[in-house]
Amino acid sequence: MKDENCIFCKIANGEIPSATVYEDDRFRAILDMGPASKGHTLILPKEHFKDVCALDEGYASRVLSLGGKIGAAMKKSLGCSGFNLVQNNGASAGQTVFHFHLHVIPRYDDGAPMVTWVPGHADTDELKETAECIQTAL
Ligand code: 5GP
Ligand code: ZN
Repeated sequence: MKDENCIFCKIANGEIPSATVYEDDRFRAILDMGPASKGHTLILPKEHFKDVCALDEGYASRVLSLGGKIGAAMKKSLGCSGFNLVQNNGASAGQTVFHFHLHVIPRYDDGAPMVTWVPGHADTDELKETAECIQTAL
């Protein structure tokens, strides 16, 4: 299903032109218009899913390997030494376009730090309690 009002549905299905890196029956991968680094790519399903929780199994089973394939191609073609796969779910997590997408962000040896956090502290009891809390909702 597509969403008439969704820009990524239009881009994924070729109704709006994009710098396309890859296309198959299910996905289009395009260059991000606000790249975190040269080559920053977004993998878009051609159907509308608002986030990873809504993503159909058929898409979910292919998207990670596609991210790896594009990341490996970036290392060969762009000379990056690594890449991040980033996927935001919900506004609090930084999602701004509510059509599932996987970021593939090339990382260069002289590049700016990104996709990082300051490690906190948690004792064993707290970790156990939190793990049990999540388990009950699965
Ligand atoms: P999010 O913050 O939702 O994880 O990522 C959305 C990404 O989509 C951002 O990095 C933003 O630069 C990119 N983006 C938003 N609109 C467009 C667009 O129309 N074309 C392209 N190529 N990228 C877009
Ligand atoms: Zn959409």
